[in-house]
Amino acid sequence: MPNWWNQIGVPHKGLVLNEVIDIREDGQSAEETPYETCMMCGNEKIRFVHIVSHNEVEEEYRVGCVCAERMTNDYINPKGKENELRNRANRRNTWIKKTWKLSKTGNIYLNHKEHHIVIFKDKSQRYKVIIDDIFGKKTFQELHKAKIAAFNGIEYFKEIGKW
Ligand SMILES: [Zn+2]
Repeated sequence: MPNWWNQIGVPHKGLVLNEVIDIREDGQSAEETPYETCMMCGNEKIRFVHIVSHNEVEEEYRVGCVCAERMTNDYINPKGKENELRNRANRRNTWIKKTWKLSKTGNIYLNHKEHHIVIFKDKSQRYKVIIDDIFGKKTFQELHKAKIAAFNGIEYFKEIGKW
């Protein structure tokens, strides 16, 4: 097992947590998730990747929660951000189980907290998402992925305070 803690070039001070990523954000199953390995301790199968950097080092460190805490000497935010993502994943699971309705034109739709979400197939037979009157830019081969994109869109609107 590699131990980058002892490696020359890895600063031990001035490291900051940039963000935490849930690599199952797009709703992959456990089998199709490309889990990462912590760059510091070699711990495998990390789902929540903490991105730590230093303003004098070009490389970003992709590590697990425990190493992120040690590197940044911050025992609140790494776990806090990871928990936020876990909660979001729970909300996403609830979302996925919702029953969508079929419109007369063959699209599926959902009314959610005064908002209207539609998924339709475009000319190339790929799924697209509309939230209220905002068209998503991405297209999806699988309906499941389009539903998750709708969820991510709603979460984004909440984050920027639009909702
Ligand atoms: Zn680690």
